[in-house]
Amino acid sequence: MPPVYSIVVPVYNEEAILPELYSRLTAVMEQLGEPYELIFVNDGSHDRSLEIMRELHRRDPRVKVINFARNFGHQVAITAGLDYARGDAVVIIDADLQDPPEVIPDLVARWKEGYEVVYAVRTEREGETWFKEFTAKLFYRLIRSITNVDIPLDTGDFRLMDRQVVETLRAMRERHRFMRGMSSWVGFRQTGVPYRRHRRYAGETKYPFRKMLKFALDGITSFSYLPLQLATYLGFAIAAMSALFILFVIVARLSGMQAFVGQATTLVTVLFLGGIQLISLGILGEYLGRVYEEIKGRPLYIVAQTWGLEAPPLPPHAHVVDVSHLQPSPSPEESGVDPHPSREQPSR
Ligand code: UDP
Ligand code: MG
Repeated sequence: MPPVYSIVVPVYNEEAILPELYSRLTAVMEQLGEPYELIFVNDGSHDRSLEIMRELHRRDPRVKVINFARNFGHQVAITAGLDYARGDAVVIIDADLQDPPEVIPDLVARWKEGYEVVYAVRTEREGETWFKEFTAKLFYRLIRSITNVDIPLDTGDFRLMDRQVVETLRAMRERHRFMRGMSSWVGFRQTGVPYRRHRRYAGETKYPFRKMLKFALDGITSFSYLPLQLATYLGFAIAAMSALFILFVIVARLSGMQAFVGQATTLVTVLFLGGIQLISLGILGEYLGRVYEEIKGRPLYIVAQTWGLEAPPLPPHAHVVDVSHLQPSPSPEESGVDPHPSREQPSR
Protein backbone atom coordinates (compact mmCIF):
# COMPACT_ATOMS: atom_id res chain seq x y z
CA MET A 1 0.00 0.00 0.00
CA PRO A 2 1.51 3.37 -0.95
CA PRO A 3 2.15 5.67 1.99
CA VAL A 4 -0.04 8.69 2.67
CA TYR A 5 2.91 10.84 3.70
CA SER A 6 6.45 11.03 2.36
CA ILE A 7 9.04 12.97 4.34
CA VAL A 8 12.01 14.02 2.22
CA VAL A 9 15.25 14.83 4.05
CA PRO A 10 18.39 16.04 2.21
CA VAL A 11 21.47 14.91 4.12
CA TYR A 12 25.02 16.16 3.76
CA ASN A 13 27.42 15.17 6.56
CA GLU A 14 24.83 15.07 9.33
CA GLU A 15 26.02 11.99 11.27
CA ALA A 16 25.63 13.79 14.60
CA ILE A 17 21.96 14.52 13.98
CA LEU A 18 20.44 11.52 12.20
CA PRO A 19 19.53 9.34 15.24
CA GLU A 20 17.79 12.25 17.00
CA LEU A 21 16.12 13.33 13.75
CA TYR A 22 14.85 9.81 13.17
CA SER A 23 13.36 9.43 16.63
CA ARG A 24 11.66 12.83 16.58
CA LEU A 25 10.26 12.33 13.08
CA THR A 26 9.04 8.86 13.98
CA ALA A 27 7.31 10.09 17.15
CA VAL A 28 5.49 12.82 15.20
CA MET A 29 4.54 10.66 12.23
CA GLU A 30 3.26 7.77 14.34
CA GLN A 31 0.91 10.19 16.07
CA LEU A 32 -0.71 10.97 12.72
CA GLY A 33 -1.73 7.32 12.51
CA GLU A 34 -1.42 6.86 8.74
CA PRO A 35 1.24 5.04 6.70
CA TYR A 36 4.31 7.12 5.86
CA GLU A 37 7.83 6.84 4.49
CA LEU A 38 11.01 8.72 5.43
CA ILE A 39 13.21 9.30 2.39
CA PHE A 40 16.79 10.24 3.22
CA VAL A 41 18.77 11.57 0.28
CA ASN A 42 22.48 11.19 0.91
CA ASP A 43 24.07 14.06 -1.00
CA GLY A 44 27.61 12.70 -1.16
CA SER A 45 28.36 12.84 2.57
CA HIS A 46 31.85 11.82 3.54
CA ASP A 47 31.13 11.10 7.18
CA ARG A 48 29.16 8.14 8.60
CA SER A 49 25.75 9.51 7.51
CA LEU A 50 25.12 6.81 4.89
CA GLU A 51 26.04 4.05 7.27
CA ILE A 52 23.62 5.39 9.89
CA MET A 53 20.82 5.78 7.35
CA ARG A 54 21.30 2.21 6.14
CA GLU A 55 21.21 0.98 9.70
CA LEU A 56 17.93 2.87 10.23
CA HIS A 57 16.55 1.30 7.03
CA ARG A 58 17.49 -2.16 8.29
CA ARG A 59 15.67 -1.61 11.54
CA ASP A 60 12.67 0.22 10.11
CA PRO A 61 11.56 -0.45 6.50
CA ARG A 62 9.66 2.85 6.48
CA VAL A 63 13.08 4.47 6.19
CA LYS A 64 14.29 4.64 2.58
CA VAL A 65 17.62 5.82 1.28
CA ILE A 66 18.83 7.37 -1.96
CA ASN A 67 22.60 7.54 -2.33
CA PHE A 68 23.97 10.07 -4.83
CA ALA A 69 27.18 9.36 -6.69
CA ARG A 70 28.56 12.67 -5.38
CA ASN A 71 27.46 15.95 -3.84
CA PHE A 72 24.86 17.58 -6.08
CA GLY A 73 23.60 20.23 -3.66
CA HIS A 74 20.66 20.73 -1.36
CA GLN A 75 18.11 21.71 -4.03
CA VAL A 76 18.91 18.73 -6.25
CA ALA A 77 18.73 16.39 -3.26
CA ILE A 78 15.22 17.66 -2.58
CA THR A 79 14.36 17.12 -6.24
CA ALA A 80 15.44 13.48 -6.08
CA GLY A 81 13.34 13.00 -2.95
CA LEU A 82 10.30 14.36 -4.77
CA ASP A 83 11.00 12.08 -7.75
CA TYR A 84 11.01 8.94 -5.59
CA ALA A 85 8.33 9.89 -3.05
CA ARG A 86 5.01 8.08 -3.38
CA GLY A 87 2.92 9.73 -0.69
CA ASP A 88 -0.27 11.73 -1.32
CA ALA A 89 1.41 14.54 0.59
CA VAL A 90 5.15 15.15 0.57
CA VAL A 91 6.94 17.11 3.30
CA ILE A 92 10.40 18.59 2.74
CA ILE A 93 12.40 19.12 5.91
CA ASP A 94 16.06 19.92 6.68
CA ALA A 95 18.06 17.27 8.49
CA ASP A 96 19.54 19.61 11.11
CA LEU A 97 16.32 19.96 13.16
CA GLN A 98 16.20 23.70 12.50
CA ASP A 99 12.76 22.92 11.14
CA PRO A 100 11.08 21.16 14.07
CA PRO A 101 9.27 17.95 12.99
CA GLU A 102 6.57 18.85 15.54
CA VAL A 103 5.26 21.45 13.05
CA ILE A 104 4.34 18.71 10.54
CA PRO A 105 0.89 18.00 12.08
CA ASP A 106 0.03 21.71 11.62
CA LEU A 107 1.02 21.47 7.95
CA VAL A 108 -1.04 18.30 7.57
CA ALA A 109 -4.07 19.98 9.18
CA ARG A 110 -4.05 22.78 6.59
CA TRP A 111 -3.57 20.22 3.79
CA LYS A 112 -6.65 18.37 4.99
CA GLU A 113 -8.53 21.68 4.79
CA GLY A 114 -7.79 21.62 1.06
CA TYR A 115 -4.56 23.58 0.56
CA GLU A 116 -2.16 22.02 -1.94
CA VAL A 117 0.95 23.83 -0.68
CA VAL A 118 1.44 24.54 3.01
CA TYR A 119 4.71 26.32 3.68
CA ALA A 120 6.23 27.05 7.09
CA VAL A 121 7.08 30.71 7.73
CA ARG A 122 9.93 31.56 10.08
CA THR A 123 8.73 34.12 12.59
CA GLU A 124 11.93 33.88 14.62
CA ARG A 125 15.35 32.45 14.02
CA GLU A 126 17.44 31.16 16.87
CA GLY A 127 21.18 30.92 16.90
CA GLU A 128 21.94 32.48 13.52
CA THR A 129 24.65 35.07 13.05
CA TRP A 130 23.36 38.62 12.52
CA PHE A 131 25.01 38.47 9.10
CA LYS A 132 23.03 35.41 7.99
CA GLU A 133 19.82 36.81 9.42
CA PHE A 134 20.35 40.20 7.76
CA THR A 135 21.34 38.83 4.35
CA ALA A 136 18.48 36.32 4.42
CA LYS A 137 15.91 39.02 5.22
CA LEU A 138 17.36 41.28 2.53
CA PHE A 139 17.38 38.48 -0.03
CA TYR A 140 13.74 37.45 0.50
CA ARG A 141 12.64 41.08 0.17
CA LEU A 142 14.79 41.69 -2.90
CA ILE A 143 13.61 38.61 -4.76
CA ARG A 144 10.03 39.41 -3.94
CA SER A 145 10.33 42.94 -5.26
CA ILE A 146 11.99 42.03 -8.58
CA THR A 147 9.97 38.98 -9.61
CA ASN A 148 6.38 38.52 -10.69
CA VAL A 149 6.11 35.32 -8.70
CA ASP A 150 4.44 35.54 -5.31
CA ILE A 151 7.29 34.06 -3.28
CA PRO A 152 6.37 34.32 0.42
CA LEU A 153 8.77 36.16 2.75
CA ASP A 154 11.04 34.33 5.23
CA THR A 155 10.08 30.92 3.92
CA GLY A 156 12.53 28.11 3.27
CA ASP A 157 11.98 24.71 1.75
CA PHE A 158 10.19 23.35 4.84
CA ARG A 159 6.73 22.72 3.40
CA LEU A 160 4.07 20.16 2.58
CA MET A 161 2.97 19.63 -1.01
CA ASP A 162 0.06 17.71 -2.42
CA ARG A 163 0.64 14.98 -5.01
CA GLN A 164 -0.71 17.28 -7.78
CA VAL A 165 1.95 19.87 -6.98
CA VAL A 166 4.68 17.24 -6.68
CA GLU A 167 3.83 15.83 -10.12
CA THR A 168 3.91 19.35 -11.57
CA LEU A 169 7.30 20.05 -10.00
CA ARG A 170 8.66 16.72 -11.23
CA ALA A 171 8.04 17.89 -14.78
CA MET A 172 10.13 21.04 -14.19
CA ARG A 173 13.70 19.91 -14.77
CA GLU A 174 15.66 23.15 -14.80
CA ARG A 175 19.21 22.82 -13.59
CA HIS A 176 19.66 25.86 -11.38
CA ARG A 177 16.87 25.15 -9.04
CA PHE A 178 15.25 27.46 -6.56
CA MET A 179 12.67 25.03 -5.22
CA ARG A 180 10.85 27.44 -2.92
CA GLY A 181 10.28 29.77 -5.88
CA MET A 182 9.25 26.94 -8.18
CA SER A 183 6.73 25.65 -5.69
CA SER A 184 5.18 29.15 -5.52
CA TRP A 185 5.27 29.52 -9.28
CA VAL A 186 3.06 26.46 -9.88
CA GLY A 187 0.09 28.12 -8.21
CA PHE A 188 -2.69 25.99 -6.63
CA ARG A 189 -4.02 26.94 -3.22
CA GLN A 190 -1.15 27.95 -0.95
CA THR A 191 -1.01 28.96 2.67
CA GLY A 192 1.57 29.52 5.40
CA VAL A 193 1.96 28.24 8.95
CA PRO A 194 4.16 30.30 11.31
CA TYR A 195 6.90 28.58 13.30
CA ARG A 196 10.04 29.33 15.29
CA ARG A 197 13.19 28.22 13.53
CA HIS A 198 15.43 26.53 16.05
CA ARG A 199 19.16 26.54 16.20
CA ARG A 200 21.06 23.76 14.47
CA TYR A 201 20.97 20.61 16.62
CA ALA A 202 24.62 19.75 15.98
CA GLY A 203 27.36 20.28 13.44
CA GLU A 204 27.69 23.44 11.41
CA THR A 205 25.97 24.98 8.44
CA LYS A 206 26.59 23.36 5.05
CA TYR A 207 25.90 26.70 3.37
CA PRO A 208 29.06 28.77 3.54
CA PHE A 209 28.88 32.30 2.12
CA ARG A 210 30.00 31.18 -1.35
CA LYS A 211 27.18 28.63 -1.65
CA MET A 212 24.67 31.10 -0.25
CA LEU A 213 25.65 33.66 -2.89
CA LYS A 214 25.31 31.10 -5.68
CA PHE A 215 21.93 30.04 -4.31
CA ALA A 216 20.77 33.68 -4.22
CA LEU A 217 21.94 34.20 -7.82
CA ASP A 218 20.13 31.02 -8.89
CA GLY A 219 16.97 32.35 -7.28
CA ILE A 220 17.20 35.74 -8.95
CA THR A 221 18.23 34.52 -12.41
CA SER A 222 15.55 31.79 -12.38
CA PHE A 223 12.75 34.22 -11.76
CA SER A 224 13.80 37.64 -13.06
CA TYR A 225 15.30 39.32 -16.14
CA LEU A 226 15.67 42.61 -14.32
CA PRO A 227 19.47 42.36 -13.93
CA LEU A 228 19.76 41.94 -17.72
CA GLN A 229 17.63 45.01 -18.31
CA LEU A 230 19.74 47.00 -15.88
CA ALA A 231 22.34 47.61 -18.60
CA THR A 232 19.67 49.15 -20.82
CA TYR A 233 18.36 51.40 -18.06
CA LEU A 234 21.83 52.49 -17.02
CA GLY A 235 22.76 53.07 -20.66
CA PHE A 236 19.82 55.41 -21.20
CA ALA A 237 20.42 57.22 -17.93
CA ILE A 238 24.11 57.79 -18.62
CA ALA A 239 23.50 58.82 -22.23
CA ALA A 240 20.94 61.40 -21.09
CA MET A 241 23.28 62.74 -18.43
CA SER A 242 26.15 62.94 -20.93
CA ALA A 243 24.04 64.94 -23.39
CA LEU A 244 23.29 67.52 -20.72
CA PHE A 245 26.91 67.53 -19.67
CA ILE A 246 28.17 68.14 -23.23
CA LEU A 247 25.90 71.18 -23.53
CA PHE A 248 27.17 72.42 -20.21
CA VAL A 249 30.82 72.01 -21.21
CA ILE A 250 30.34 73.83 -24.52
CA VAL A 251 28.63 76.75 -22.82
CA ALA A 252 31.29 76.85 -20.12
CA ARG A 253 34.13 76.87 -22.67
CA LEU A 254 32.53 79.55 -24.88
CA SER A 255 32.05 81.80 -21.89
CA GLY A 256 35.77 81.52 -21.14
CA MET A 257 35.59 79.46 -17.92
CA GLN A 258 38.71 77.47 -17.14
CA ALA A 259 36.73 74.28 -16.38
CA PHE A 260 37.36 70.66 -17.48
CA VAL A 261 40.88 71.06 -18.76
CA GLY A 262 42.77 68.39 -16.81
CA GLN A 263 43.19 64.65 -17.28
CA ALA A 264 41.17 63.82 -14.19
CA THR A 265 37.84 64.42 -15.87
CA THR A 266 38.71 62.11 -18.75
CA LEU A 267 40.10 59.43 -16.49
CA VAL A 268 37.15 59.39 -14.14
CA THR A 269 34.66 59.20 -17.00
CA VAL A 270 36.49 56.38 -18.75
CA LEU A 271 36.91 54.34 -15.58
CA PHE A 272 33.31 54.86 -14.58
CA LEU A 273 32.00 53.72 -17.94
CA GLY A 274 34.48 50.83 -18.01
CA GLY A 275 33.20 49.66 -14.63
CA ILE A 276 29.59 49.76 -15.73
CA GLN A 277 30.39 47.91 -18.93
CA LEU A 278 32.24 45.15 -17.07
CA ILE A 279 29.39 44.75 -14.60
CA SER A 280 26.90 44.47 -17.46
CA LEU A 281 29.08 41.88 -19.15
CA GLY A 282 29.29 39.96 -15.87
CA ILE A 283 25.52 39.92 -15.52
CA LEU A 284 25.24 38.71 -19.09
CA GLY A 285 27.76 36.00 -18.21
CA GLU A 286 25.70 34.82 -15.25
CA TYR A 287 22.75 34.19 -17.53
CA LEU A 288 24.77 32.85 -20.43
CA GLY A 289 26.57 30.33 -18.21
CA ARG A 290 23.24 29.07 -16.95
CA VAL A 291 21.89 28.77 -20.50
CA TYR A 292 25.00 26.80 -21.44
CA GLU A 293 24.61 24.37 -18.54
CA GLU A 294 20.95 23.98 -19.40
CA ILE A 295 21.54 23.04 -23.05
CA LYS A 296 24.25 20.52 -22.22
CA GLY A 297 21.37 18.48 -20.86
CA ARG A 298 23.46 16.53 -18.38
CA PRO A 299 21.59 14.53 -15.74
CA LEU A 300 20.34 16.55 -12.79
CA TYR A 301 21.68 13.89 -10.45
CA ILE A 302 23.16 10.41 -10.48
CA VAL A 303 21.79 7.78 -8.14
CA ALA A 304 24.38 5.18 -7.21
CA GLN A 305 22.23 3.07 -4.90
CA THR A 306 18.81 3.07 -3.31
CA TRP A 307 17.46 1.09 -0.39
CA GLY A 308 13.74 0.40 -0.08
CA LEU A 309 12.86 2.33 -3.26
CA GLU A 310 12.08 1.58 -6.87
CA ALA A 311 13.20 3.80 -9.73
CA PRO A 312 10.26 6.14 -10.36
CA PRO A 313 8.62 6.64 -13.74
CA LEU A 314 9.76 10.03 -15.00
CA PRO A 315 9.02 12.25 -17.99
CA PRO A 316 11.29 11.48 -20.99
CA HIS A 317 13.26 14.74 -20.66
CA ALA A 318 13.80 14.15 -16.94
CA HIS A 319 17.61 14.18 -17.06
CA VAL A 320 18.41 11.79 -14.25
CA VAL A 321 20.59 8.73 -14.11
CA ASP A 322 19.76 5.89 -11.76
CA VAL A 323 22.25 3.06 -12.05
CA SER A 324 21.28 1.45 -8.78
CA HIS A 325 19.87 -1.61 -10.60
CA LEU A 326 23.39 -2.46 -11.75
CA GLN A 327 24.48 -2.94 -8.15
CA PRO A 328 24.69 -6.39 -6.61
CA SER A 329 21.64 -6.74 -4.33
CA PRO A 330 22.40 -4.74 -1.21
CA SER A 331 21.94 -7.55 1.27
CA PRO A 332 25.22 -9.57 1.38
CA GLU A 333 27.56 -7.30 3.35
CA GLU A 334 25.20 -5.46 5.61
CA SER A 335 27.94 -4.35 7.93
CA GLY A 336 31.00 -2.22 7.29
CA VAL A 337 29.46 -0.20 4.53
CA ASP A 338 31.65 1.19 1.84
CA PRO A 339 29.83 4.16 0.25
CA HIS A 340 31.39 3.34 -3.12
CA PRO A 341 31.58 -0.44 -3.29
CA SER A 342 33.75 -1.58 -6.16
CA ARG A 343 32.12 -3.92 -8.61
CA GLU A 344 33.87 -6.92 -9.98
CA GLN A 345 34.72 -6.64 -13.63
CA PRO A 346 32.69 -9.14 -15.62
CA SER A 347 34.98 -11.70 -17.26
CA ARG A 348 34.65 -12.13 -20.99
N1 UDP B 1 22.47 19.90 2.39
C1 UDP B 1 22.61 19.01 1.31
N2 UDP B 1 23.57 19.23 0.39
C2 UDP B 1 24.44 20.30 0.46
C3 UDP B 1 24.27 21.21 1.55
C4 UDP B 1 23.27 20.98 2.47
O1 UDP B 1 21.85 18.05 1.19
O2 UDP B 1 25.31 20.44 -0.40
C5 UDP B 1 21.39 19.66 3.38
C6 UDP B 1 21.84 19.66 4.82
O3 UDP B 1 22.27 18.38 5.24
C7 UDP B 1 20.58 20.10 5.53
C8 UDP B 1 19.93 21.04 4.53
O4 UDP B 1 20.48 20.72 3.27
O5 UDP B 1 19.70 19.02 5.76
C9 UDP B 1 20.14 22.49 4.85
O6 UDP B 1 21.51 22.77 5.04
P1 UDP B 1 22.05 23.66 6.23
O7 UDP B 1 21.27 23.38 7.47
O8 UDP B 1 23.53 23.48 6.33
O9 UDP B 1 21.71 25.13 5.71
P2 UDP B 1 21.28 26.38 6.62
O10 UDP B 1 20.13 25.93 7.45
O11 UDP B 1 22.48 26.72 7.43
O12 UDP B 1 20.93 27.43 5.62
MG1 MG C 1 20.14 24.40 8.66
